Amino acid sequence: MRITAIHEKTIGIASTMRNADIGFDEMTASLIAVVTDVKRDGRPVVGYGFDSIGRYAHGAVARERLIPRLLAADAKALVADDGANLDPHRCWAAMMRNEKLGGHGERAGAVGVLDMAIWDAVAKIEGKPLWRLIAERYRGGETDARVRVYAAGGHYHPGDDLGALKDELRRYRDLGHTTMKIKVGGGPHEQDMARIEASLAVVGHGRLAVDANAAFDRARADRFLTATAGFGLAWVEEIGDPLDFALQAELAARHATPMATGENLFSCADARNLLRYGGLRADRDFVQVDIGLAYGLVEYLRIVEMMEAAGWSRRRCLPHAGHLFSLAVVAGLGLGGHECAPDPTLLFGGFPAGVTVEDGHVRPPERPGLGFEGKDNLYRLMRDLAA
Ligand code: MG
Repeated sequence: MRITAIHEKTIGIASTMRNADIGFDEMTASLIAVVTDVKRDGRPVVGYGFDSIGRYAHGAVARERLIPRLLAADAKALVADDGANLDPHRCWAAMMRNEKLGGHGERAGAVGVLDMAIWDAVAKIEGKPLWRLIAERYRGGETDARVRVYAAGGHYHPGDDLGALKDELRRYRDLGHTTMKIKVGGGPHEQDMARIEASLAVVGHGRLAVDANAAFDRARADRFLTATAGFGLAWVEEIGDPLDFALQAELAARHATPMATGENLFSCADARNLLRYGGLRADRDFVQVDIGLAYGLVEYLRIVEMMEAAGWSRRRCLPHAGHLFSLAVVAGLGLGGHECAPDPTLLFGGFPAGVTVEDGHVRPPERPGLGFEGKDNLYRLMRDLAA
């Protein structure tokens, strides 16, 4: 079998929401369609990829280097030994030919979104959901019946207030969510405290996480962690600069609150440095590397292996971004949980039809591949791209 075409497109996903670090008024994402010559129900199998949220589209690197390498490769170099399906590890190696280590830039996300589409195609050719294929190949077939999910929201919106924040969290609770995350750090300390107290009234102790999106310096981080020490926060996310491992280690040594970080690290080597130098505690903290932004599942398998060799449970992995690729990997590898943007009207939000949240958990979709076909608004764009 072989890849017959790869289509790529940048789409706009702008919104008025903000976190402490950025606004989303210019946000874009990449769509990818990998077309194969394998037929199912009389039609070519197409694998789809959709960028992770927050880092803009990756079309330039994909168009200029990665897609041409895949299309120019000897078809035998991209497929499994029996020739019946693509081998994602071999495709990954073909994309990364002549690419130096480190300095990931846009490349990590460009490889990630193509890797996502390749895995979607591989699972469709095998006729099974990607999460099950991952479990069979990398977890001895063991699967979790349900995947823990949490609702990520509580962004800043123009003209919003505490009432709007509480209404948003109540909507998530009504959808079946139990653990929820809100943004902090986008205003003064007093505003953070008011937002947290309002949210705790809806969510409850032990179930509210907060995300500072790297907004705090040392003094502000210390003040925040001291003030919230008795709040039973589920975790405090990206409290400072994502690459300041010494600050992270200092804060972890001084404050008992669980912490989470890693969504702005883009490789196994970066994640290894975080574990070596970031002072994270394997009994309570979380590693949030974004699978789609960090070279895809092929690289993520290396990260999980590295973490387990360092004495970490894979249940401490809480990948960033609510896309279906993350859900498949969390379910397939048995990670700690899946971040969900609960609004299904967003291209990157919600779940495919038929997947509902119950008591903070979901059963992953049974469609072959990633399940994009069950998410109408996104699949319409993907189908048009492949056509
Ligand atoms: Mg975050």
